Amino acid sequence: MQFVGNNFVRDCMLSVILYLYWVLIFRNTLKSLFKGDIAMSKFVYRFEEGNANMRELLGGKGANLAEMTNLGLPIPQGFTVTTEACTDYYKQGKKISDEIQEQIFAELKVLEEKQGKKFGDTESPLLVSVRSGARASMPGMMDTILNLGLNDVSVEGFAKKTDNPRFAYDSYRRFIQMFSDVVMEVPKSLFERVLDEIKEAKGVKYDMELTADDLKEVIAKFKTIYKDKMGEDFPQDPKVQLMEAVKAVFRSWDNERAIVYRRMNDIPGDWGTAVNVQSMVFGNMGNTSGTGVAFTRNPATGEKGIFGEYLINAQGEDVVAGIRTPQPITKLEEDLPECFAKFMEIANTLEEHYRDMQDMEFTIEEGKLYFLQTRNGKRTAQAALQIACDLVDEGKITEEEAVLRIEAKSLDQLLHPTFDPEALKNGECIGQALPASPGAAAGKVYFTAEDAKNAHVNRGERTILVRLETSPEDIEGMHASEGVLTVRGGMTSHAAVVARGMGTCCVSGCGDISISEEDKVFELGGKTIHQGDYISLDGSTGKIYYGDIKTVEATVSGNFGRIMEWADKFRKLQVRTNADTPADAANAVRFGAEGIGLCRTEHMFFNPDRIPKIRQMILSQTVEQREKALNALTPFQKGDFKALYETMEGRPVTIRFLDPPLHEFVPSDPADIDDLAVQMMMTAEQVQEICDSLHEFNPMMGHRGCRLAVTYPEIARMQTRAVMEAAIEVKAEKGYDIVPEIMIPLVGEKKELKYVKDVVVETAELVKKEKNSDIAYHIGTMIEIPRAALLADEIAEEAEFFSFGTNDLTQMTFGFSRDDAGKFLDEYYKKKIYESDPFARLDQNGVGQLVAMAAAKGRKTRPDIKLGICGEHGGDPSSVEFCHRVGLTYVSCSPFRVPIARLAAAQAAINESRAKKSFIDDETKENLKEAADKAQAIAKDLAQASAEVAKAGLEGLKAGIEAAKKAFDESRKA
Ligand code: ADP
Ligand code: MG
Ligand code: MG
Repeated sequence: MQFVGNNFVRDCMLSVILYLYWVLIFRNTLKSLFKGDIAMSKFVYRFEEGNANMRELLGGKGANLAEMTNLGLPIPQGFTVTTEACTDYYKQGKKISDEIQEQIFAELKVLEEKQGKKFGDTESPLLVSVRSGARASMPGMMDTILNLGLNDVSVEGFAKKTDNPRFAYDSYRRFIQMFSDVVMEVPKSLFERVLDEIKEAKGVKYDMELTADDLKEVIAKFKTIYKDKMGEDFPQDPKVQLMEAVKAVFRSWDNERAIVYRRMNDIPGDWGTAVNVQSMVFGNMGNTSGTGVAFTRNPATGEKGIFGEYLINAQGEDVVAGIRTPQPITKLEEDLPECFAKFMEIANTLEEHYRDMQDMEFTIEEGKLYFLQTRNGKRTAQAALQIACDLVDEGKITEEEAVLRIEAKSLDQLLHPTFDPEALKNGECIGQALPASPGAAAGKVYFTAEDAKNAHVNRGERTILVRLETSPEDIEGMHASEGVLTVRGGMTSHAAVVARGMGTCCVSGCGDISISEEDKVFELGGKTIHQGDYISLDGSTGKIYYGDIKTVEATVSGNFGRIMEWADKFRKLQVRTNADTPADAANAVRFGAEGIGLCRTEHMFFNPDRIPKIRQMILSQTVEQREKALNALTPFQKGDFKALYETMEGRPVTIRFLDPPLHEFVPSDPADIDDLAVQMMMTAEQVQEICDSLHEFNPMMGHRGCRLAVTYPEIARMQTRAVMEAAIEVKAEKGYDIVPEIMIPLVGEKKELKYVKDVVVETAELVKKEKNSDIAYHIGTMIEIPRAALLADEIAEEAEFFSFGTNDLTQMTFGFSRDDAGKFLDEYYKKKIYESDPFARLDQNGVGQLVAMAAAKGRKTRPDIKLGICGEHGGDPSSVEFCHRVGLTYVSCSPFRVPIARLAAAQAAINESRAKKSFIDDETKENLKEAADKAQAIAKDLAQASAEVAKAGLEGLKAGIEAAKKAFDESRKA
């Protein structure tokens, strides 16, 4: 047997050896690669390591602190724990991994060295603030902790170092209070009480009058409260304090206020927040110290020029909390002129750098200025337009950028009312305070957010929320109210900031009010106003009026008109409106609507002179009877359509045929039933019986939509006649080129559509013949039943256009109704099952798939099919963006949302073309190139190594063969 000469065996051996070597090499390579990878997941960044483009990782605050550090501005140094660390915290079941903790302590050490101070030190302790900062700014949503690092020992060091024991003990007691409240949720009020008691005992009025010894007493009492509540001593180890604080920030990402805020602002729940740990500077060290906030332009009007407030000898939140009324920033020029000059210089640098209005926070410590935050400032819609237009005129941004700068949703504010000038003349002004958020509002007064919300939601009341000051818990009540009035707080108080963000009218800081929130009453200008009484607010002037003053709607002009013109240049989607009346349609056209995407015909029947006729139609026992009743309706319906066509001046109009279940029209009032009985020559009992028989268990899925036309084709015939005659007449009278679009609702099956369509075509052709007209018309359908979306290719054989009725489509896809979902959706938000209301914001994952699929299928059958959307989503910016992506022809929304849709459509188009242009951004390109170089080097090494292995293997094999040969020869010899 000659096994050595066998090629197969040799190959096998060679392969095995090679394989083993490869495995060895690869294992090492892979191992080293992975090691590198793990080392690369960096959860903590020093400020100097970041920049403004890293906001996803570092959060907005952290990214901007890094950017400012790199610009060489005076920023107290520190580091940022990333949003990924927050995500990791939740992934680990609310734990911070050892890895992350190690990285935090490592950076802390670096910070200590840089500051020449030590955490918990007796000589020179390092104190830090722990500040949250999400990717999108969520003002007031998360809590900041100041003076962290103080304990019984370091407070002594701090006192010595600052030569100011009073200040040191004050800082410590503030820290205990903040830490207990924010981190451990020990109620603030317990601490406030101690302070009040001691002030009374010492016979002083202000905290500032307490001595160092008084404060020591306070601290001892605070620590007792902590121990009572927590069952353990106040943590003395600063590292423990720090880690607890970091965890608290992570936790706060998921508190109820944050969830509500995210839902209102379309912020995804999985982004997480970063934590900034920053060495403290002190604005409360005396009269050359202070703290403040400022904007580079007026956030209410957009007017250019510095705008802000500050407090001398104060720390942190004192300005925002509205405890003391702050000074205007210009006063700083008198108080500390050098600081002011430096401040202005930096403010201008920042605005130039970011090319947008900046909102800045600063602190002055014994004459030295520090910046603690900058961000693109929140602003009213009016200010946003002004600033965008100004920046274009100043040559700082392009028209395209200007369009992107306006938050589409915020336009809503501009479409909100102002006071009717006539009504205002008779208005009785009872007071005036700060014009914190513009717009006019009138409503009934409520003193708690809860009451205001309930009055609005349950009773549909217009409400005005009146508070001493607002806090984040009040958000929902503020949202439900027409306006907010506060007794305390400046232009940057919580109420002001949040109201501006929401576009809710707000008047703040009305110190003249004497209020009793408990008794639900306030007095102002000699009037006593109880809960439920009407007042009116003007958020643009700050005036407060007695009674209910009439308000009027706004128009698109000036800056608004300019931005909308720019938007129209960029957008591809058309924008239509949902309108049933000429008044609504005219309004929509003023706002830029290019047609009607949905005219609901049923609303036309509720008129007192029409409803009896539709009731007779419903009660009819024979086709003849029914036709007679319907014929009586034709002139009304035709008149409505004519008026609509005239208003729209030749723009397309889509008319939807009767949709709701018939029982919505039947009478319930006995007098009405009697009337109807007389008209129908029936008894009241008979009428009642028929009405009762129309009752449905689930009317949403009952006898409605095209099912009505299938059972009563006469209805479709009447409506077709009205549509066609109206179009032919207006065309002849006014010369508009009208092409009616008839839309059949609630179709789920092609044959169903075909049946109704045949009725429509037959009637339409008849009318054309009668009128000797060659008018064109289109017949299409709504896609609002999932089955229609699934079979859209078949349905498109009969439909010339689709309009996505995403209200019904959402109801039927989720299997819950819009009217009932409110009862349980709140729980779903709280439990993080759903993040947003699918009826307000299109569920792109689910319902969106049906839309995309139906659009594609429809186009496959009929390439030129016209596609639109007419659900509420047509005016929601994120949904509009989706419609753009899916390639719809138009979106249709309520008249007031037309400008929002126009802007959102433009932004979608601009963002898409930008994304295409720079599919890969520069940083990624750089990273990819690096990775490619690395891969090449590894490949080269591998090739070389494997060549060597192969060579060695061959040599080994050769030697083996030699040896085997030798052995064989020897054995043969033997
Ligand atoms: P918010 O996001 O609610 O504005 P911040 O994290 O900005 O919370 O903190 C609120 C305020 O606390 C700041 O405006 C600043 O006045 C004060 N503050 C935060 N960090 C420091 C610090 N390191 N030194 C001094 N003051 C600080
Ligand atoms: Mg801040
Ligand atoms: Mg519908």
